[in-house]
Amino acid sequence: MLPQLHVLLGFIFSYILVYFFNFSISAGIIVFLAAVFIDLDHYFRYIIKTKNFNFIKFMKLSYIEGKKLRNLSKNEKLQYKMPHFLFHGIEFFLIILILSFFNSIFFWILIGITFHMILDFIDMYYHKDPFSVKLSQIYVFIKNKNKKELKL
Ligand SMILES: [Zn+2]
Repeated sequence: MLPQLHVLLGFIFSYILVYFFNFSISAGIIVFLAAVFIDLDHYFRYIIKTKNFNFIKFMKLSYIEGKKLRNLSKNEKLQYKMPHFLFHGIEFFLIILILSFFNSIFFWILIGITFHMILDFIDMYYHKDPFSVKLSQIYVFIKNKNKKELKL
């Protein structure tokens, strides 16, 4: 899903929580930030892969990669490694869930990332992308064995 849409919908969602559900302003801000910045894992992945910090280049490459992946057939997709998004998946969710028992900031982060993931899954359903990419990073790691890297 486009980052602009995450910003817009994350803002509306946080605003609703503050306005109608008695969340404090600071809780609303943390929910919003979590709902947007969870996608930083895409940027971290780019930095690790390219050793480059250029954000504009990252945005361009993400767009090209997304388009290329979506143009592959289901069988072709199975031949290539799935991308790792460390903050997307049950593992990161569980870490934040456990931490939320100790500090309410993590509970707000959990709400933000849950909202983000719901939007991502709606987007993936719409584009017929495999859910597994953002369901579990351990699963992605296992499934990626002996597969080739998608050349850009
Ligand atoms: Zn995302």
